[in-house]
This record gives sequence, structure tokens and C-alpha cells, in this order.
Amino acid sequence: MKIPEWIKHHYPKPETLEQIRNLLRGFELHTICEEAKCPNIGECFKEGTATFLILGNICTRNCKFCAVKKGKPKPIDSDEPKRVAQAVRKLGLSHTVITSVTRDDLSDGGASHFANVIKEISRDRSRPVPTVEVLLPLLDSKGLEEVIDAHPEVINHNIETIERLYPEVRLRFKYSESLEFLRQAKQLNNFILTKSGFMLGLGEVEKEIVKMMEDLRKHEVDILTIGQYLRPSGKHLPVVNYIHPDKFLEYKKIGYSLGFKYIVSGPYVRSSYKAQEALAKCTI
Ligand code: SF4
Repeated sequence: MKIPEWIKHHYPKPETLEQIRNLLRGFELHTICEEAKCPNIGECFKEGTATFLILGNICTRNCKFCAVKKGKPKPIDSDEPKRVAQAVRKLGLSHTVITSVTRDDLSDGGASHFANVIKEISRDRSRPVPTVEVLLPLLDSKGLEEVIDAHPEVINHNIETIERLYPEVRLRFKYSESLEFLRQAKQLNNFILTKSGFMLGLGEVEKEIVKMMEDLRKHEVDILTIGQYLRPSGKHLPVVNYIHPDKFLEYKKIGYSLGFKYIVSGPYVRSSYKAQEALAKCTI
């Protein structure tokens, strides 16, 4: 399928990538920006936001759209929370997103490690404490509570696609489970902001997309990201269609009419894109 103009011109310059890699190498840290080949890598760093991938870069699940490595993860690196906090301080980040692969091999799914990272970042009193968003895999309610008790500003969990496509796109996940997870976060702390996101271009139709947005609102989700699925490699699901930027604007309008507090919608939008702006707009 021919890649449309509005997709082509967006990838960062190789020197920008190299600069970022060198910055991070010193901390032995991964970013989802690199692992998932995010097209916005340069822009977010310039805006003082980065997304750290904790708990290794090998996932125990196998979603057919995702570029992250799959297989047997390595043991937890207990020094990682400190290194993330050091990198956040060194990079002078004012907002940081912490995410991870799914770790079905860990009894708490990695919840305590997430909590330790948030606490280490918040421990830094050498400057205004950066705000933290966690983009979580599914955790059990005890794990979710442990993360929320560490006081991140935003709990994010991506719904990724419509319910009909889950068996093909998001194996081992249930649509209703992800919705319930987001509602639980709100029930555990009504003041916390919840966020979710999905991709377009995998064969979903408008009626299904609007239903998904309605479902997210019914589960009290505040912030929404909508982006175009881009095929990471020939081994991943093919793109069914490229959605025109005008259509992304249309879904944004529909989303606001459904009551979302803030929406970032566009072909290159990813979960953490404009994350700091979204938080700022939701807390004024
Ligand atoms: S669970 Fe997350 S990291 Fe793992 S394959 Fe699915 S989308 Fe990728």
C-alpha cells in the first residue's frame, strides 16, 4: 500500500537519534521511544519529556502490532529505579512517562518496581519534582493500588484497538479487562487522571471507533490519544488503511463531545506524545 505524504516526512534525523542514544547509554536505560521506533523521538526530548521502558525490553506477550522483543525476560534490575531518577535529573525532564513490557513472569506484574521508580523520582529535592505518568501493563488490583499509592499524576493504559480486533491484534488481552482496569484506577483514587489510547488503520470502522470512545468515557477516562498504526516490520500486521489527518480531527471533535478532558489525535500521535501538555491542560 502506498504510504501517503502526511506520513513520509516525519522521521527524526539520524544525528538526533544518536544524540539521544548517547545520553541514555550512560544510564543503561531503555526508552519505548527507541524500542517501539516512535516517529516523535526528537520532538518529545526537545520538550523535556521522555518515556522510560523499565523491567527490561523483552515482553511475555505477543501483540501483533508491537515492535518490542518477545521471549523470556531477564531478572529485575533493582538498581534501575535509582538510574531512572538520575537520568530524569540529568536530562532536566519536567515530565516523565514510565512504561514497561508485560511481565507475566513476575507475581506482582512489576507493580512494586513501578512504585519504586516513582518514589525515586519524587525523592529528588534538588529541583521542582517532575510530574510522572505511568503507562501500565495490566496489573492485579493490589498491584494497581501499590502504584497509585506512589502518587503518579497520570495512570495510562492503552485499549489499543476495538473489541472485534482483539483476537487478531491483542492476543491474551480482553477488551473489558482493560476498561475495568482504567475504572479501578479512578475508584482507587478519584483525583488521579486516567488516560488511554488506540491506533487506527487496522480495519476498524467509524461506528466501532465511536463505541470504543463511549466505552472509555463510561469508564471515566479523562485523556485520550489517537494515532495511526504503522507497521514496524514485515512480521507485523499489515496496515489496512491510512487515515487522513482531517479524520483524526473529526474523531477529536467527537471525543470532546463525549466529555474527554484532553485529546491528542493525529497520524503520528503515540501514547506519550504531548503528555506534559495534556496533564497541564487537565490540571488548570
Ligand atoms: S503487551 Fe505491550 S509490550 Fe508486550 S507485545 Fe503487547 S503491546 Fe507490546
